[in-house]
Amino acid sequence: MSEHLLDVRDLRVSFDTYAGEVQAVRGVSFWLDPGETLSIVGESGCGKSVTVQTIMKLLPSPPSRIKSGSIHYQGRDITHLPDKAMDEYRGKEFSMIFQDSMTSLNPTMRVGRQLCEGIIRHQKATRAQAKQTAIELLGQVGLPNPEQAFRRYPHTMSGGQRQRVMIAMAIACNPKLLFADEPTTALDVTMQAQILDLMNGLKKKLGTSIILITHDLGVVAKMADRIAVMYAGKVVEYGDARQVFYNPCHPYTWGLLGAMPNLIQDVKSELYAIPGTPPDLYAPPQGCAFAARCPYAMGACLKGDPPKFVCSDGHISRCWLMDERAEEVMPPDGIPTLPRGGKQA
Ligand code: SF4
Repeated sequence: MSEHLLDVRDLRVSFDTYAGEVQAVRGVSFWLDPGETLSIVGESGCGKSVTVQTIMKLLPSPPSRIKSGSIHYQGRDITHLPDKAMDEYRGKEFSMIFQDSMTSLNPTMRVGRQLCEGIIRHQKATRAQAKQTAIELLGQVGLPNPEQAFRRYPHTMSGGQRQRVMIAMAIACNPKLLFADEPTTALDVTMQAQILDLMNGLKKKLGTSIILITHDLGVVAKMADRIAVMYAGKVVEYGDARQVFYNPCHPYTWGLLGAMPNLIQDVKSELYAIPGTPPDLYAPPQGCAFAARCPYAMGACLKGDPPKFVCSDGHISRCWLMDERAEEVMPPDGIPTLPRGGKQA
């Protein structure tokens, strides 16, 4: 039985479409303990959102389908739990902050009523109790004049205020696990910093674990205890935040870090971008999915999918460069030499 709060093992999720099977998630494994923040990083279409929506059972089936693997929550196998049984978990045990608050909130209902719905349903509260709790929550997430905010419609609020309402809805039932899918993407940097501080504060206060999906490494640096870097439906590098930021072992992670703007960069120099585009997941390549874009690709990369290599304790990379038979390469500036000859995990 799993000891972790959430334990995902070798999860594979596909979509059956008229054009064929899209292998969106191809063997993802990670775990999370109480009070921790795991950040899942990667480009659009790498399977980050599909992974968390599969855990929450938010994807319609068909077309989505869990092909194999397991999801354990507090030791219980919830991989194939029916939708009705999942209602016991969604909202109460885990909840989600979606990316776009404008489309996630119902534009025809006042925000207070939308907040009360979940409280009445999951906490069996009366309408008056739910209203009281909702106003307290709106105050807790930093909305000025919460009584007035309770009566407002979503379109009368700014993006930052709506995102705070989304956070209030997500924490309404004190969930143990919070999924945040790009919660700050639509916000300006000032509002982004405030929302991240708010989430960090709530994590400390309520002891909530967070799974944060983002493509912004600045957000990751501020929030994450551990990081899973995803590419083409797989976790290609996994480790604690310090390991992944200071000793990254996968060329894709090097590319992501290299694409971050920094203060010492010459303002006239072009920002680095990883060349090419991710592979088509209708027909994923036989070898390493990153090979077509990787400046270090070798013959072996085209033939076989790289296994997991252990870079250091708890730090894993799926790259043939870690194999002792691979030629030594020079990582980009500022990145330490690879610990080659790592054991396979
Ligand atoms: Fe590049 Fe090969 Fe490593 Fe893939 S396995 S990231 S192609 S070096």
